[in-house]
Amino acid sequence: MIEVIVAGGGPTGLMLAAELRLHGVRVLVLERDAEPARFVRALGLHVRSIEVMDQRGLLGRFLAHGRRREVAGFFAGIDKPPPAGLDTAHGYVLGIPQTTTDRLLAERATELGAEIRRGCELVGLSQDDEGVTAELADGTRLRARYLVGCDGGRSTVRKLLGVGFPGEPTRVETLLGEVAVGVPPETVAAVVADVRRTQKRFGVGPLGDGVYRVVVPAEGVAEDRSAPPTLDEVRRQLRAYAGTDFGVHSPRWLSRFGDATRLAERYRVGRVLLAGDAAHVHPPTGGQGLNLGIQDAVNLGWKLAAEVAGWAPEGLLDSYHTERHPVAADVLVTTRAQMELLSTEPGPRAVRRLLSELMDFEDVNRYLVEKITAIGVRYDLGEGHDLLGRRLRDVGLTRGRLYALMHGGRGLLLDQTGRLSVAGWADRVDHVVDVSDELDVPAVLLRPDGHVAWVGDDQRDLLRRMPRWFGAAG
Ligand SMILES: Cc1cc2nc3c(=O)[nH]c(=O)nc-3n(C[C@H](O)[C@H](O)[C@H](O)COP(=O)(O)OP(=O)(O)OC[C@H]3O[C@@H](n4cnc5c(N)ncnc54)[C@H](O)[C@@H]3O)c2cc1C
Repeated sequence: MIEVIVAGGGPTGLMLAAELRLHGVRVLVLERDAEPARFVRALGLHVRSIEVMDQRGLLGRFLAHGRRREVAGFFAGIDKPPPAGLDTAHGYVLGIPQTTTDRLLAERATELGAEIRRGCELVGLSQDDEGVTAELADGTRLRARYLVGCDGGRSTVRKLLGVGFPGEPTRVETLLGEVAVGVPPETVAAVVADVRRTQKRFGVGPLGDGVYRVVVPAEGVAEDRSAPPTLDEVRRQLRAYAGTDFGVHSPRWLSRFGDATRLAERYRVGRVLLAGDAAHVHPPTGGQGLNLGIQDAVNLGWKLAAEVAGWAPEGLLDSYHTERHPVAADVLVTTRAQMELLSTEPGPRAVRRLLSELMDFEDVNRYLVEKITAIGVRYDLGEGHDLLGRRLRDVGLTRGRLYALMHGGRGLLLDQTGRLSVAGWADRVDHVVDVSDELDVPAVLLRPDGHVAWVGDDQRDLLRRMPRWFGAAG
């Protein structure tokens, strides 16, 4: 009865499960951990993920738990004002702990009818022409038509598939945790400001209730990287970098992370796919990993649902790799570059200073912000209008807003001419006749992920384009 097994209930797997449920796919999420993680990795959502939440009617929930911040200071922590007139209706970053994001996405997937089974570790898999068999640690075997490995950077699914994960191992490690401090807040702030003038990988920031998030370079790379550091190790490193350990005590949790940078060679092997950290890992600088995974899920969800439903055109599912692999490759470059720019060595410091000067040019600042926020992503859908392959920002219509029409995850023809038709595809594509002051093209065809598949006003041209994304006319 299961159509898709999602291995891993992190943000990528949960978002994917919800996307699949929008199309009625019977989905089971297998999550190894019996309880949700307590430690907080990602701290926020960037513009494109915020837009995605808006497109699915979820933004209100996230705004209720998050704090809006300027889109500034993200690229290697270089402090510049946000570029003017960013092409989005959501020109902010939403500060929200990953534990809350995970909870909200789990609630959403469950509401839509996904089953999430905790304490279930996938340990084996095999596939044939009809489907995939997953083996769990307790010996249970489950059968589904497809399986997606969203099981994080150490992905079991990726290893079982034998997919290469080339790149660089961790060379630099950082300690992270939430602790109480034994000195006044002003002392913490003054010391941190002083240390951060040269050491950008250092931070002790208040979270409220006397708890601080501590980030400090580790002494080296631990032999067992999955083991959390001790409080003594954190104290020692704080003293080494700040000359004081701030009297830290009572840790809520402690963790460590590295700067390994790797990209899966293939995102698909037959009926098994990879998404999120299972497909790519990179340093957290700039805060992109969770966002990248959510956007993988939104690219993959409708394509996989189309396969399951039987209307997917030839090559649709493979376009997941073609489109998302280059996006991750670009994020790897951006995060690698940022890690270099955080170095305290004289060479990288000189490059940082030069880049900081260049970012005073509005176009340079905008280019980097569009990369980090992922609103600059353009899939290669061939020659055509500049909007082709890009996501379309939310625009006002005479009867509401564009994104409010996209909650169901279907294709959408926004037709300002009133002369076009989606007859034959009406079961997959909505046809909205309306006008917008913010859109200077006659009509635009949006895929369920919000990316532009066609621009124009010619019905015959539209009909030629439809099958590539929405299959044969019904
Ligand atoms: C310190 C730090 C700060 C970060 N800050 C940011 C940030 O600000 N912004 C941002 O976008 N990203 C950030 N990231 C990255 C972000 O945390 C990850 O990219 C994100 O969690 C990836 O989501 P995922 O669902 O792909 O994988 P994960 O979150 O790793 O989830 C994978 C899930 O799979 C489960 N699992 C593993 N193996 C199995 C198995 N065999 N069977 C079943 N289940 C399994 C795991 O228990 C886990 O729940 C940060 C990362 C770190 C380390």
